[in-house]
Amino acid sequence: MNDTIAAIATAHGVASISIIRLSGPEAASIARRIAPGATLTPRTAELRDLLDAGGTLIDRGLVLYFQAPRSFTGEEVVEFQAHGGLVVAEQILQSALHHGARPAEPGEFSKRAFLHGKIDLSEAEAIARLIEAKSVDAARILARQLKGELGRFVEEIREALLRAMAHAEVLIDYAEEELPGELMAELGVQLNALEHRLQNLVESSRRRRGLLEGFRVAIVGKPNVGKSSLLNALLSYERAIVTEVAGTTRDTIEEQVRIGSHIVRLIDTAGIRETEDRVERIGVERSLHSLGEADIVIALFDASRPWDEEDTVILERIRAVAGDKELIVALNKSDLPRRLEEEPLAEFSPLAISARHDFRPLLEALEKRLDALAGEDELMLASARQIEAVERCAEEISRAHEPLERGELELFSYHLREAIGAIGSLTHPFESEQILDRMFGEFCLGK
Ligand code: GDP
Repeated sequence: MNDTIAAIATAHGVASISIIRLSGPEAASIARRIAPGATLTPRTAELRDLLDAGGTLIDRGLVLYFQAPRSFTGEEVVEFQAHGGLVVAEQILQSALHHGARPAEPGEFSKRAFLHGKIDLSEAEAIARLIEAKSVDAARILARQLKGELGRFVEEIREALLRAMAHAEVLIDYAEEELPGELMAELGVQLNALEHRLQNLVESSRRRRGLLEGFRVAIVGKPNVGKSSLLNALLSYERAIVTEVAGTTRDTIEEQVRIGSHIVRLIDTAGIRETEDRVERIGVERSLHSLGEADIVIALFDASRPWDEEDTVILERIRAVAGDKELIVALNKSDLPRRLEEEPLAEFSPLAISARHDFRPLLEALEKRLDALAGEDELMLASARQIEAVERCAEEISRAHEPLERGELELFSYHLREAIGAIGSLTHPFESEQILDRMFGEFCLGK
């Protein structure tokens, strides 16, 4: 980190302003070559001529100096705010490179901030993901992680574990028959509570992962109930369709749609939408294919036809998942005369809708479920890496129980130490340079 890095931090393309960033020991002296006469008063914007390597004027722009260590990276940092567009920013960057900077790798500014202790790893992760956030939900969670919420949680757990370990260290000096049973039992209870807290966090983060990635919604029902009509209606409801992505099960694709502040991934078991022109419609089993992957299941029944065996198949399957999935049961084609017996579905309080004319009741129910899944502003783990670390910590705590009961305090301490390492890896992993490189390599350039 003895060199000075430079990058264009804003998106490439035509824009009114672009930002070029420098970080490292030479940042200030390079900035003086680009912007002669700049006083570089810390945290003060100055309007200056910006020159290329040959001393020719490129643009007039703002120069902002952050003196080490009071900067994002903890190093000397200078930012130029120049006019946007492809040419100006690139020329300023070239000028910086000519004067001794080197091009930054993606994520290198954040990596330096991490290595200088300005941000912890959970905050660095939050930065990377906030930049890519697709929904208000995701941005909210990541912004809180960026403010150090997860870091504080890690500290709390670490301290509790350290206290337990300190107790154990004291007890190691006791002879086995003299061990104070009450204190040991108390220790066991505390660790149990800790383990549960971690498990709950993992469980609720998994359940709410849709906040970041989009909640998966599956539409199931027998042929002809209006699945594809509903899917199309939902897709055209919000024009903000983000992308089409391959689902995790073969045969499915997903489309993302924004509903309220949430992103929803409508799982389309291959062919739902193609059925309009085909004689062969998607069968009941095929339609149930996506059930396992879904966070929310919309089960459709045809209100204009009498109950039949296929409806019974659907009913049985949705009963089986009702406990662990959000379930919305809807009677479609309610614009036609009612022929369906509602009694078998009474327990699910079905909604009357029409995919053709009015599906608002379904939309409202969906938004309500999504709000409920989103939950209160509670702590959430935002990546597989974070979930894995917390799980590992809970596992080590659970392994510490038996040795505690048997009075094997050294083994007990060992597992607690492992647990502390696991929870600590959320923010300050003792990992090799390579792992950090890989992680920061996924960042945007200039961040
Ligand atoms: P799928 O096989 O479940 O995907 O069903 P489709 O969406 O292809 O719909 C089957 C038929 O029912 C089509 O002719 C649709 O136009 C019609 N349909 C779908 N929803 C409604 C509705 O709400 N009211 C009426 N009257 N017809 C509908």
